[in-house]
Amino acid sequence: MLDNVLHLLFPHVCIICGESLRQGELHCCSSCVSSFDRFSSPPESGEVLRNTMVSRYGGRFAFEQGWCLYRFHKANPLQHALHSMKYEGLFTVAEYFGSRLGEWMLSGGSIDGIECIVPVPLHHLKKIERTYNQSEKIARGIGRTIGKPVCPELLQRHRWTFSQTSLPAKQRRKNPEGAFRASGASMPGHILLVDDIVTTGATMISAAKALQKAGAGRISLAAVALAAHD
Ligand SMILES: [Zn+2]
Repeated sequence: MLDNVLHLLFPHVCIICGESLRQGELHCCSSCVSSFDRFSSPPESGEVLRNTMVSRYGGRFAFEQGWCLYRFHKANPLQHALHSMKYEGLFTVAEYFGSRLGEWMLSGGSIDGIECIVPVPLHHLKKIERTYNQSEKIARGIGRTIGKPVCPELLQRHRWTFSQTSLPAKQRRKNPEGAFRASGASMPGHILLVDDIVTTGATMISAAKALQKAGAGRISLAAVALAAHD
């Protein structure tokens, strides 16, 4: 925590190891970034995300395209960086990862008609507690990079759900069911739904279903990290 307070005051140190950042480095030093387990290509990340969803939920939810930057392993330095952006007030780190994710999407070729970006919302009481929604900050970073609007107002979380990390696997899959409600005068035809980490995929599916129920056509998915089950 102290490291992160220092980072707010002195943003030229790495949020993970505390070493001084060199020119061109932002938030995390190159050495820490090189320890993150990045997917080999944007299409590979989409494929792994698709296989993850299919293996857990069958064909019950079909998404258009998908992108993740990293495989998430416990105790990897990436965990520290993601924790900082979620719980320790470093929302600029979330925007930074959003920009990287946007660049990753563009580098993989077509982003095929995405009209707007919707972050997975926090319950409003949780947002008051944390002061911001990290997924919205990631969405803003993506939006600036790919030149698409961010529309958080289209989706609300009306039911409090427990932190996914605190639940056993079976309960995690059921936990976010029906937790979201979508609203909007007209739903865009193709929405990019954004979250920080995909653990079981249950949150993404529940949010996507709410958007589809409200009239959204195609849904694509993007997340900074996908939990590797190792
Ligand atoms: Zn570092």
